[in-house]
Amino acid sequence: MNKKSIRDIQWPGKRAVVRVDFNVPIEHGVIGDDTRIRSAVPTIQYLVDHGASVVLMSHLGRPKNTVVESLRLKPIATHLAELLKQPVTAIPDVAGPNALSAAKALSAGQILMLENTRFDAREEANDPSLAKEYAALGDVYVNDAFGAAHRAHASTAGIAAYLPAVAGLLMERELEALAGTLANPERPFITIIGGAKISDKIGVIENLLSKVDALLIGGGMANTFLLAQGYAMGDSLVETASLDLAKRMIDLAAARGTKLLLPTDAVVADAFSPTANTMVVAVTDVKPGWRILDIGPATRAVYAAQVAAAKTVIWNGPMGVFEMPAFAEGTRAVAQALADSSAKSIVGGGDSVAAIEQMGLAERVSHISTGGGASLELLEGRVLPGVDALNNR
Ligand code: ADP
Ligand code: MG
Repeated sequence: MNKKSIRDIQWPGKRAVVRVDFNVPIEHGVIGDDTRIRSAVPTIQYLVDHGASVVLMSHLGRPKNTVVESLRLKPIATHLAELLKQPVTAIPDVAGPNALSAAKALSAGQILMLENTRFDAREEANDPSLAKEYAALGDVYVNDAFGAAHRAHASTAGIAAYLPAVAGLLMERELEALAGTLANPERPFITIIGGAKISDKIGVIENLLSKVDALLIGGGMANTFLLAQGYAMGDSLVETASLDLAKRMIDLAAARGTKLLLPTDAVVADAFSPTANTMVVAVTDVKPGWRILDIGPATRAVYAAQVAAAKTVIWNGPMGVFEMPAFAEGTRAVAQALADSSAKSIVGGGDSVAAIEQMGLAERVSHISTGGGASLELLEGRVLPGVDALNNR
């Protein structure tokens, strides 16, 4: 990685201002999945162990520039303190004089957590006055919030103009897994793209077509590609507005010599319901009144074989409506193939990650990305503002 990280800094006696992504599901002060909090622990622990004091900042939810009681960070500080087995002091200030005196009072190894950054209207506006207030709280800025790195906000980008700025360990790991792999993959390199809509991921498909040996398409988005091939899709989800884009991608793949694989069979249902009648048909044979809700067994076998033969696999997007057990087998087959393969395997995307975790296979892939939107933008080949702002090596 060409960005400096916390390992490049001499920490004793320094105060680190650390942007983390603690945007976790929370209801009535009870935290749901705490993966994002646990993912930031190595960075915080590293700083504490190396004699720094730590000022943490994060957003939570969408408070829309005002104080929302249910989105205060105090319960998260309490949970973090349990994980770290040391106190974490939460204050009700995003920045400003009270935050400054609390930060200055820290001794080595102590941790302070600021209030939800998005309570302050200047955060999302990337207002320099707030960025300067954050910067006054410490000596070095650390960005470990990969999940927010695609945003140019005061705490994710603006602050870096006023302090030395380095990546945390999670940020570093995410960048190596995604950007590093894209830049230098061991081949064969394949990607599997799924999910509901082609329009969400056209940028990803376009960028990857020039990098991969094969691109495997599943999920609802495959329907638009199949329609572009002239097959009737019955009542399946299709995006007619993206039909030309799909055709362009098919042509682009042909021009590049990249294999573009589409499903050959599908599980169709007579309703969008877990208890619908279902059957397996060829994609050339989808009747009116029926809709594709999963890839079929022949397609699963082909995709699994592609994974087995690959040295690098990136997967983003479920192969079907995996939330309903009747349409989860395609997604399960891909997750299982990744788990069984010795390839470098990377999974990104909120729903794909949820699916592989639900199936108990997450431990068996090389990397699970904690950033949905940020990982998609990296796959699109975009420069993330939160990464761009960090100091180069
Ligand atoms: P990710 O979060 O992994 O990037 P997406 O958000 O793009 O994935 O897509 C996930 C959604 O796509 C799931 O809710 C799933 O039910 C839906 N989906 C997958 N296949 C189909 C299909 N054939 N028809 C309708 N929806 C689908
Ligand atoms: Mg999603």
